[in-house]
Amino acid sequence: MFGVPFATLSGMFKNFFSAKETPALPLVNLYNTETTSLEPFVPLSKKMVTMYSCGPTVYDFAHIGNLRSYVFSDILKRTLLIHGYHVKHTINLTDFGHLTDDGDAGEDKMMKGLKREGLPVTLSAMRQLSDIYIEAFYDDMDSLRILPPTTWSRASDYIEAQIRLVETLSEKGYTYETKDGVYFDIQKYPAYGRLGNIDISELKSGARVEVNTEKHHPADFAVWKKGLLGWESRFGKGFPGWHIECSAMAMATLGKEIDIHTGGIDHIHTHHNAEIAQSECATGKKYVRYWMHNAFITIDSTKISKSLGNTINLRHLVDRGYSGDDYRYWLLTSHYRSTVNFSWDALLGAKQALYRLKRYVYEDYKQVAGKPDKTYVERFKAHLADDLDTPGAIALLFEITKDEKLDAKTKCATIQYFDSVLEIGLSDSVEDGKKTLGILTTKDVPEEIQVLVDEREAARIARNWLEADRLREALNLKGYAVEDTPHGPKISKA
Ligand code: AMP
Ligand code: ZN
Repeated sequence: MFGVPFATLSGMFKNFFSAKETPALPLVNLYNTETTSLEPFVPLSKKMVTMYSCGPTVYDFAHIGNLRSYVFSDILKRTLLIHGYHVKHTINLTDFGHLTDDGDAGEDKMMKGLKREGLPVTLSAMRQLSDIYIEAFYDDMDSLRILPPTTWSRASDYIEAQIRLVETLSEKGYTYETKDGVYFDIQKYPAYGRLGNIDISELKSGARVEVNTEKHHPADFAVWKKGLLGWESRFGKGFPGWHIECSAMAMATLGKEIDIHTGGIDHIHTHHNAEIAQSECATGKKYVRYWMHNAFITIDSTKISKSLGNTINLRHLVDRGYSGDDYRYWLLTSHYRSTVNFSWDALLGAKQALYRLKRYVYEDYKQVAGKPDKTYVERFKAHLADDLDTPGAIALLFEITKDEKLDAKTKCATIQYFDSVLEIGLSDSVEDGKKTLGILTTKDVPEEIQVLVDEREAARIARNWLEADRLREALNLKGYAVEDTPHGPKISKA
């Protein structure tokens, strides 16, 4: 898992075109939260796009809302890849310092995790806890067929870079020290709050009673938190603040100016404004050119939250018989900037629709080699280039299945091409695809079952319907279903 080298990944996408046909770089339009408009995407370097995605805090399983963030950045990355770009991508793993409140209040999420699992409050226990949830997160990425980033940056592996950034900010006079930490002084950066158009004077008057009276402004944020646990620095022992982590790792892995930064909308106001302020004050350069944010998944139209007891993760879906493909498909039927309410009924509908598509591919078309239809490919790319219009792309997928002018070979190859971005399990091998449908290939069928199926087939040929029915019931009792098709009996687990 996650061992696929980057070069192989970009190669994978090239295989759809011969060298001669490699497309020029057409326009991809993306919605930029900073300008609140759809903009043609123009990266800093002609072909290599740099992209940073705020990763999970690894103190627990990621919930289905969190996972939308990574399906969204995966669609974005694959869209850029099919449009001819290379993408250098970092996702961070927050393994300390993220408080339950995105500002400087609340409990540290990792501490919560340590308490929950009865672990001691030490750096090594924190590492141990995060190891578990990092592995679980990688499994989720795998189930959702999300491409691995070029770099997984784990916050505790980049402490030096974070300390250096705090030092730079303090040397340049952007910070001040208090009893409990080092704070960024937002009044020294007049552009503060440009993401989401925050009016900092309103922040001051509207702020709740500030617990830390040493702060100059309620929106000042900690770049270093002093404490008994943590790392040594010239500011005393402690932790880098949560926001500094992303700036330091984005710059360490992608450079001082990056093309795209993604995250959920909850990060706009505090986390991303803080990232902009500290990065731009440290480097004097524009930190991010395109800010992109996914809207929330809600449950019963309410925020997904542990305290409300409505948290659902991928394991819960699997326990109820849904796959990562089913969830990914459901997500893609809505645009990433729409808030969507999760329900089991909606997920069932998605599963059934995807099942129909899989049957087309794995039974009807049988993946015979063909070439994708150019017109459909162009229409598909145009949907994605329109700020990742995945609902439109999925509608097109169904249009292909109904198009009587296309032959089976072309349909299959076109669907497979679409699947290089959608990744909903439509381009597996026929054997693997059939398994996901519950249709067993001969080699998976136990001998005893195959004998019954063959006997039933013989009875059918002899028009001995009573015996054929008796054998069907015998198969059902053993947990297998048999369906008669023009190509012979199809066996599946009942
Ligand atoms: P966290 O682990 O809290 O840092 O969140 C990981 C990612 O999930 C971030 O990009 C969040 O903005 C995003 N996120 C959190 N809750 C939701 C939700 N309910 N729906 C969509 N994205 C979310
Ligand atoms: Zn972040």
